[in-house]
Amino acid sequence: MPYTPAENRYDVMQYRRCGNSGVMLPLLSLGLWHNFGGITPFSTQQAMLRTAFDHGITHFDLANNYGPPYGEAERNFGRHMEADWKPHRDELFLSTKAGYDMWPGPYGDHGSRKYLIASLDQSLKRMHVDYVDLFYHHRPDPDTPMEETAGALDQIVRSGKALYVGISNYQPEQAKKMIGLLRGLGTPCLIEQPSYSMLNRWIEGGLTDVLRTEQVGCICFAPLQNGLLTGKYLQGIPTDSRAARDPRYLKADRISEETMAKVRKLQPIAEARGQKLSQMALAWVLRDPVVTSALIGASRPEQVRENVAAVQNLSFAPEELEAIEQALR
Ligand code: NDP
Repeated sequence: MPYTPAENRYDVMQYRRCGNSGVMLPLLSLGLWHNFGGITPFSTQQAMLRTAFDHGITHFDLANNYGPPYGEAERNFGRHMEADWKPHRDELFLSTKAGYDMWPGPYGDHGSRKYLIASLDQSLKRMHVDYVDLFYHHRPDPDTPMEETAGALDQIVRSGKALYVGISNYQPEQAKKMIGLLRGLGTPCLIEQPSYSMLNRWIEGGLTDVLRTEQVGCICFAPLQNGLLTGKYLQGIPTDSRAARDPRYLKADRISEETMAKVRKLQPIAEARGQKLSQMALAWVLRDPVVTSALIGASRPEQVRENVAAVQNLSFAPEELEAIEQALR
């Protein structure tokens, strides 16, 4: 069936400006790290992408090595592009990344000009697009001079293969330096993509201060802590969950009693707000306006629908924030 997007799609979502750029991002964005590789049926992937866009999620996030196998999420996205998205390309904000291992040998990893430019060329072919809206250096590389990585990102924008560039997993001092280098080259850094959730608060203070001062956007990955903050693991590991299906990235030892005790204390706070715990967890990462968007994953369209409803209640009373602090102690 040809896809016709929901007419009211822009009424559902809210959008935030990304740093001091011209770009607005949806409060929730969809990542294709899991469930868009070779295991998940094409029809399920299609339903998730369509559901997201129907609810105003205009931003899809990929990386060269999302799969499995590496490259498969981009390859599948290329098929979705042909099936559904070509007529809507200008309504989408697409990102991809390079920085982790992608192909064998010395040129398929880290932060060299050689790797980043070759990788993006490959990504564009797999995704069936002429350009991406955003290209990231996926992680800092201590062995490549930052000037070289910055120069490659600048070259990528000037060549028209990406409209904007960003960084991911950079620590505050590294981010500050890269933001300065890129600004000096005339290609401002649009955004940083760090991990952030109620259970993982490393960005508070240090990185968020840098991004606020530099007026750079911030998109937080894994705001549900890979599903832990949905409450789904409180009674053990469900067979249809990530921890059961793909324990490489969510090992049973991360579902500790200590973590579950915190989740258990958070649940009544969410209930009192009239929200699911997952919805409160998403609203919570968005409480600081320095956070432009929360980058979720999903394994089925119902999860996307449920998560989008988080935007209906984003404000927190001081007592609620204090109760959350107590629960997380
Ligand atoms: P989340 O913390 O949002 O976890 C998503 C998972 O939680 C889903 O796949 C699903 O797993 C479960 N889930 C989501 N919503 C619900 C719900 N309403 N009810 C029950 N379960 C739910 O994020 P991810 O870990 O998936 O990461 C999101 C994105 O962030 C990635 O796709 C990627 O784009 C980006 N990322 C970037 C990284 C980087 O280094 N830059 C690293 C990691 C991620 P299930 O149903 O299978 O249990």
